[in-house]
Amino acid sequence: MLAQILLVILIILAWIGARSLLQKRLGAPENGGDSGRGRSGTRRQERTDGRVEDMVRCAHCGVFLPRSEALADRRGNRYCSEAHRQRGPGDSA
Ligand SMILES: [Zn+2]
Repeated sequence: MLAQILLVILIILAWIGARSLLQKRLGAPENGGDSGRGRSGTRRQERTDGRVEDMVRCAHCGVFLPRSEALADRRGNRYCSEAHRQRGPGDSA
């Protein structure tokens, strides 16, 4: 009788162990899976909005970048970085 009980306990432990291993391989445990999906969904929405944003051109090197990331000088020229804003427009050679 005792041996049968031990056997049942072993089977249950093995089943739980195999189940946890499968969840780890799938990378979707109950807690981490939900939070990860929420974060990724939010990031995708932000990226989608960023692509819709207007693109402006750096007055110094001519590279295009989102308006929110561009730096403007007193004349209204847009630059990709603080260094190019200090150098000013043109001078692309
Ligand atoms: Zn630039």
